[in-house]
Amino acid sequence: MEYLDAARRQGFAVLLQRQRETLLRHLAGSPAEHAPRPQSREPGTPGAPADPAPTATGDGRTRLALDKIDAALARLAAGSYGTCSRCGREIALARLALVPATEFCLRCARHPPRARRRVAHFIAGLARFYPR
Ligand SMILES: [Zn+2]
Repeated sequence: MEYLDAARRQGFAVLLQRQRETLLRHLAGSPAEHAPRPQSREPGTPGAPADPAPTATGDGRTRLALDKIDAALARLAAGSYGTCSRCGREIALARLALVPATEFCLRCARHPPRARRRVAHFIAGLARFYPR
């Protein structure tokens, strides 16, 4: 299977671990700017994204992000990493490289069924106010 071979999975594991450490440091209160930068990029690391610096403010969001990373690491261990939790399709590698902790493909992340229903409801409501 070419999509997520062992080397790529390892690359994502490294990425996720790094993000995890960054977030843990963030939680511990030390400024992320002083975090040691990884010196070299392992060959086979999937298109290492620009710093996944935690822009989240507040411990709640940091913890949430940590949970996502932990879940992604668990999926890596279980072998289900890279498969969309909603539709079961492969998540594009480019997307995983940008958001390694994601569990949804771009399509599902952009258009969650619930949000789609809400939009439809909203539009139906507008039509009532602005009849043609
Ligand atoms: Zn999906």
